[in-house]
Amino acid sequence: MSSHEEVENYPRQNHEGFWQKNKEKMVPVSASDLERHKYCPKSFELAREGNTGVGEALESGIEKHKAIHERVSDYAENRLQYNRSNVIWTWWFTVIIAFLLDAILLDLIDDVNISTNDAARFLSIWALMVLIAGIVLVYLPWRSFIGTKKPTEDKVIIEIFESTWENNNFVGGWFEAGKLEATFLMSAIVMGIHAIGLVFASDRNQAIFILILTAMVWTLIASWQLQRTLIDFAKFETSRNDLGFEEDIDIAYSDDEESSDLLKDESIGLRGRPDQIVIVDGEFIPVEQKTGRVPHKPYDSHKMQLLAYLHLVSISTNREIPYGVLRYGDDTIFRIEWDEKTKQSLFDEIKEIQRLLVEGGAKRNHEREGKCLNCSRRYACDQSLVE
Ligand code: SF4
Repeated sequence: MSSHEEVENYPRQNHEGFWQKNKEKMVPVSASDLERHKYCPKSFELAREGNTGVGEALESGIEKHKAIHERVSDYAENRLQYNRSNVIWTWWFTVIIAFLLDAILLDLIDDVNISTNDAARFLSIWALMVLIAGIVLVYLPWRSFIGTKKPTEDKVIIEIFESTWENNNFVGGWFEAGKLEATFLMSAIVMGIHAIGLVFASDRNQAIFILILTAMVWTLIASWQLQRTLIDFAKFETSRNDLGFEEDIDIAYSDDEESSDLLKDESIGLRGRPDQIVIVDGEFIPVEQKTGRVPHKPYDSHKMQLLAYLHLVSISTNREIPYGVLRYGDDTIFRIEWDEKTKQSLFDEIKEIQRLLVEGGAKRNHEREGKCLNCSRRYACDQSLVE
């Protein structure tokens, strides 16, 4: 064999010890492979050979996972709806404050030499200018001029007071999703109403009276929005309690196994998709949900699977992830640290699985009959400790 052919001989280990399938690709390992391998290398090998897991526990686990995903999606939707309602109510409330402040100022300032009609004219012109600015902002693609992201939907501003201004995955600020435009349009409305009120006021006292009257009417409308906000809050709290989530937990992602993309680290061949990624104190935290028996301490196989997600989320978000969460049922939660030690144990496991995939020869790693008894691939196993 020539030296050139030896160099091109694949699969082989790279300088870090991971196995390359060929020049471009690593030997692929999934987070589920890691879980199975940690449970028993023979189970992992049987799964790779196409022996699917069987048993009631497995089927009910799949159903429970689906149900959990639906509850988490409901929670995310209710949280978003509550936040929207809350912001809208805040706007309405601000309008009331603006009317009342105007009334107070008008009453306190004595040496104002401007007539109510002149003030109305001035406010109308100002409202018109702000309205035009708002419309220009809506229709002009100014975000692309300054290089920020477009709103998620084209019609976002038109429907600003309804629920389509941010989608579930939206992360943005004042320059996105129409908030700036909404401020301009709201300001134009408030100034326009001021102007109309002043037109009907023949003197300052009458103007103050009209401003207070408008504030009262606006309060009624705001109380309707407040009621809506409280209803949304109650729904949000119900779904939060239902899931047993702490306050201020946001859902960045929930796996429905259909629309969710795999997370990948091509440099080591790892791939996978956690059940959820939540945001706690600004940190992305992967959550792996487990159904079935609730243990006193987390199973090693589940921990290894979560370590895979911790690495993948860290790589995908380009951030340090402090820990991940293993959740058994609704109430039992284990925090799994992500540090150099756990990272090394993950990498060692990946290398061993890649070696097995290349060289074969998986063997049972335990002497526990109970493990074999609960194994969903026992029917195909020639190393089982039980019949
Ligand atoms: S039956 Fe036992 S030895 Fe066989 S794969 Fe399952 S756990 Fe491993």
